[in-house]
Amino acid sequence: MFEKSINLFNRAQQSIPGGVNSPVRAFKSVGGTPVFMKSAKGAYMYDADGNRFIDYINSWGPMILGHAYEPVVKAIQETAQYSTSFGAPTELEIEMAELIISMVPNVDLVRMVSSGTEACMSAIRLARGFTGHNKIIKFEGCYHGHADSFLVKAGSGVATFNIQTVPGVTAGVANDTLTCAYNDLDAVKQLVAEHHGEIAAIIIEPVAGNMGCIIPQPGFLEGLRAICDMQGIVFIMDEVMTGFRLAQGGAQERLNIKADLVTYGKVIGGGMPVGAFGGKKEIMQHISPLGNVYQAGTLSGNPLAMIAGYVMLKTLKENAAIYKQLDEMTSYLHKGLNEVLKASGTPYVINQLGSMISVHFSDHPVINFATAASANNELFKKYFHAMLKRGVYLPPSAFETWFLCNALTKEDIDVTIQATKESLQEIL
Ligand SMILES: *Cc1c(COP(=O)(O)O)cnc(C)c1O
Repeated sequence: MFEKSINLFNRAQQSIPGGVNSPVRAFKSVGGTPVFMKSAKGAYMYDADGNRFIDYINSWGPMILGHAYEPVVKAIQETAQYSTSFGAPTELEIEMAELIISMVPNVDLVRMVSSGTEACMSAIRLARGFTGHNKIIKFEGCYHGHADSFLVKAGSGVATFNIQTVPGVTAGVANDTLTCAYNDLDAVKQLVAEHHGEIAAIIIEPVAGNMGCIIPQPGFLEGLRAICDMQGIVFIMDEVMTGFRLAQGGAQERLNIKADLVTYGKVIGGGMPVGAFGGKKEIMQHISPLGNVYQAGTLSGNPLAMIAGYVMLKTLKENAAIYKQLDEMTSYLHKGLNEVLKASGTPYVINQLGSMISVHFSDHPVINFATAASANNELFKKYFHAMLKRGVYLPPSAFETWFLCNALTKEDIDVTIQATKESLQEIL
């Protein structure tokens, strides 16, 4: 089934470290060979061997309208003929900024970058420059990109590969990153008390997606907001996953929580390399060239990236029903999975918010990294491969959320539920 992928993977390892350009793609945690993709359209991806998969990764989030969404593809083609980069400002960048500001709450000014990593790294620098404090608080299992400050108890690939301390991150940098368990407000209060007047920012995934899908418990985000208000700490909501996915205005809108700074990536670029960070003018005005907190990018605001993101966001803005459809489709999947998992007799937990969902083989609620890690992740590996074989492409790790796109049909979901039923019969 995967002969060509196996050959390509062997060849890739000769010239690319581990054969991949981003670690979780390597399937290292689930074993086996990564599937090399050739094309994708709507909800389906096609690999080098000609296999078709129903896609529940959607490029780790961006393809919320499905792959090769025609208006985005056309706009990129049209824009490319006028040059692919200027290194000078364009009207398109203003239109993109205005569109973002019109869709999300609490953003007066927004700076475009080329990845979610850059967005989070820059937001932290800005928070430090603004407050004059050095330390940040992040949560175990949350992933904010691969900048040094965030590679402490991080989620996603760092969790998947069980890397405790990342070589290359200096102790000095690591010491400025304090960590707490997700959903543990008392631990945050204690840390803040211990480090009074030293903390620049609290950064969090408002709905975590890098240790499976983890939902904030009632009062948790509200509690963080209150602590930040009381202590003059910058509250950064990392909406790289949730932005433009959980609602037009992301988790800020959906969960009704205000961020001081917010970071974006994934959906915001329509599948092109884009990130952004923004917030209130009072803070954002410290960014260069307005202020002295330096931040720059040769390809930031790149015209191809901007037009792809612009068309994507505009479509989402003008079709609010998309979010309702995505929610309904995901709830339908949730219900179907629930039925076949229940019938199988194996302990399980399904976490879902909007179009983010994940399955953990666990007999206890999964509310943070420790509870995600103590699930039966060996069984997840088997489940992953059994599904892959049946043409369903899930994230190759229990430490990742699944993403739905609105190109999925009810039939696709039914196929997925049936595949789960058969997979469970095979692996249990
Ligand atoms: C993916 C992700 C990032 C990093 O974005 P990149 O574009 O991969 O650099 C940061 N934060 C969260 C929450 C993410 O899911």
